[in-house]
Amino acid sequence: MTNVQQLPERDQVPEDLTWDLALIYPDDQAWETDFQQVKQQAQVTADFQGKLSQSATELYQGIVALHNTYRHLEKVYVYASMKSDQDTNNQTYLGLVARASSLATEVATSLAFVEPEIIALSDDKLAEFVQAEPKLNEYQHYLDDLREQKGHVLDTASEKLVTAATEVFGASRHTFNVLNNSDLEFPFVVNEDGDPVQLSNGVYGALIESTNRDVRKGAFEGLYSIYDQFQNTLAQTLTGEIKSHNYLAKVHHYPNARAAAMAANHIPEKVYDNLVTQVNQHLDLLHRYVALRKKLLGVDELHMYDMYVPLTGEPSLTYDFTAAKKEAKQALAILGDDYLSHVDEIFNNRYIDVVESKGKRSGAYSGGAYDTAPYELLNWQDNISNLYTLVHETGHSVHSWYTRHNQPYQYGDYPIFLAEIASTTNENLLTEYLLKTQTDPTVRAYLLNYYLDGFKGTVYRQTQFAEFEHFLHTADDQGIPLTADTLSQQYGEINARYYGEAVISDPEISLEWARIPHFYMNYYVYQYATGFAAASTLANGITQGHPQAVEHYLNYLKSGNSQDPIVTMQQAGVDMTQPTYLTDAFAVFAKRLDELENLLKSN
Ligand SMILES: [Zn+2]
Repeated sequence: MTNVQQLPERDQVPEDLTWDLALIYPDDQAWETDFQQVKQQAQVTADFQGKLSQSATELYQGIVALHNTYRHLEKVYVYASMKSDQDTNNQTYLGLVARASSLATEVATSLAFVEPEIIALSDDKLAEFVQAEPKLNEYQHYLDDLREQKGHVLDTASEKLVTAATEVFGASRHTFNVLNNSDLEFPFVVNEDGDPVQLSNGVYGALIESTNRDVRKGAFEGLYSIYDQFQNTLAQTLTGEIKSHNYLAKVHHYPNARAAAMAANHIPEKVYDNLVTQVNQHLDLLHRYVALRKKLLGVDELHMYDMYVPLTGEPSLTYDFTAAKKEAKQALAILGDDYLSHVDEIFNNRYIDVVESKGKRSGAYSGGAYDTAPYELLNWQDNISNLYTLVHETGHSVHSWYTRHNQPYQYGDYPIFLAEIASTTNENLLTEYLLKTQTDPTVRAYLLNYYLDGFKGTVYRQTQFAEFEHFLHTADDQGIPLTADTLSQQYGEINARYYGEAVISDPEISLEWARIPHFYMNYYVYQYATGFAAASTLANGITQGHPQAVEHYLNYLKSGNSQDPIVTMQQAGVDMTQPTYLTDAFAVFAKRLDELENLLKSN
């Protein structure tokens, strides 16, 4: 546990360990000036309402005005939120964040007309406009993307009715969130010190990793006793959410909710089906991993509450921040000098807010906007998992750098489907590098297990979620009532199939559906699994020295939103419409599992 009393105040942190947000605005006054300018830009853009179909010039100028407004708004928003993250108790910056948020809502509302007006243009008229104003070609992919929604957008009056009911469609999700985050009261259980502690989802996350089996068993049973008690209510909130997805998909003329959700990024549905099929064909590897876990923990029966306790202790390997940066650069050197020059830029120019201080936002992220540096927030500790965090966030930051410097603003961001691939590839490169350089068996066991646990938690577990989520939507479509019993039965079956015979199917785990917020996110989680598998395959190709692997990888980092993400990955050498990238990833998992089994055998 971190002792909160010992944390430095923000102004006591050495300057070279803080990020330099003056690179965005020299002071808050400059932010204020820009804030007012965004308001004006939004008004100028709003004047195009009803005019985009009138001439090529007005269409072009309207699109440019829209993008300029958002480009500016992002910078304003990002400065306020990063300033606030430095010290979340700072009232001044909480105020700026609140103002930036309402400005964002105001802008979104007043400029909501642009995209429907573009979608409503006839093909002939748009072609005529592009002929008359060739600069519209700079927006070709943007326009194509929008116009694929033609046929899925209703007439203005109907679309207004649907939009006005957004809050209603989200009511079940909001009810779940309030219930799950604040109203559910969990029992007291005993922590590692033998003291009573009240469970919450956060406390559970820590206790379920306890090396004391009674502690994790107590937490598991205590937590699920409450979900058991509220299972009928939670089945209702989940049903309400699923019915919203299915209804909105039908209203917009999609065959089903999955097709609607995946159309947003132009991901073919077979990407989803391939994932589920391949994971099911490779469950034997998960079963082997689970059997190894059972053996290492030395238990007669392996229960679901034994699934998160670390198999190896944190190795004594320590890195201070300077040593970690050096190690990160060595691990990433395989990506070439150009990549490393951007890592240097990030490491040497105060783009990173390094240490923990009073009130600072917890965790880690990579952020910024199109016109800012790719900043990173960390809460540094001198250990190997923080080295992984540094390499992960730097993967995002270098991805952002390449995208923002190679694409115009309209394509200067990347979708979530692509985002985690860059960060996870870096993590895998670090694992490969450390396995080459570290000889201590304890360290090697930690590294191998770190990889295997990541794979289990991402590829296997998120696919398990994806499979269940698809069941929810299709069952509701077929008129099958999603009662608590139906949900628990189905969830229990999938869970038993995934973890295999080495695990006791505790009755509590059948209720896990009741507490997973991701089931309210409409076909979102599969992207974690596809991303991790793609990264595993990419990193393997890079370390194996496959011809042009690095060059293709850098092209992916540079492409942003300029084309469909599936095309970008195809060009990087990973065809996500085919199963090969998944079988390649499972081969890496199998290799690492072999290594860990052998290492532990010889000990
Ligand atoms: Zn990430």
